[in-house]
Amino acid sequence: MKSGNELTTNVDPAEAEKFDDLAARWWDADGDSRPLHDINGPRVAYIEARAQLEGKTVLDVGCGGGILCESLAERGAEVTGIDMAAKPLEVARAHAAERNLTIAYRKITAEELVADSAAGFDVVCCLEMLEHVPAPERTVAACAELCRPGGMLFFSTINRSPLAWATAIVAAEYALRLLPRGTHRYDRLIRPEELAAACRNVGLDVLDLSGLNYNPFSRTVRIGGRPRVNYLLHASRPF
Ligand code: SAH
Repeated sequence: MKSGNELTTNVDPAEAEKFDDLAARWWDADGDSRPLHDINGPRVAYIEARAQLEGKTVLDVGCGGGILCESLAERGAEVTGIDMAAKPLEVARAHAAERNLTIAYRKITAEELVADSAAGFDVVCCLEMLEHVPAPERTVAACAELCRPGGMLFFSTINRSPLAWATAIVAAEYALRLLPRGTHRYDRLIRPEELAAACRNVGLDVLDLSGLNYNPFSRTVRIGGRPRVNYLLHASRPF
């Protein structure tokens, strides 16, 4: 059951708590965030191939400890990262300062940010986050509003399929213990056609949907092919 507050804010407090617990080890590439570290290079390459980053304003929704934000900032983007868990944001701020990167981190939801930053960003990214919110289609709608007309959006999440259940939950959380148990809830996973429909419903053009295939043994990633488990979606906001 979703509480009234959860429905209004579109934030699940249990999710924020989960990520607060992970915060201290966020930048440990061999710790609980290891899959995020392993997939980061390839997903940045995917974004870079499809959107200009140098000198552009980029918003990262659900930025966590800032793994994606830092890569985008290193490529010359003016980056804002938002999240609803306080501790990962603290870790993100400290890590960016250590590396002399200027990134604006804020504790705010995408929905709330629309009030003062509608159409404020050239590129909006929301990676590995939608499967943690009560109403992902509302987050997608807010991302669309935050993107300027002509701008680009990137989403990534996990398919809701038997294969995804077996690999992203059973194997990753129980057999291999790559991620803490309870990281992902099956009913919160999102089918690619649902994400594409959520994008089209708010007027976005879906330009690409690609599988992101992660091999935790070799720690390698291949982007492309059908979106069977993890996947990326590239959309644009028409003028
Ligand atoms: N996008 C980052 C982190 C993914 S982990 C990356 O891919 O590297 C998921 C993040 O989403 C966590 O930091 C969690 O706190 C955040 N999150 C969950 N619900 C949220 C919400 N409603 N608004 C903003 N962030 C949220």
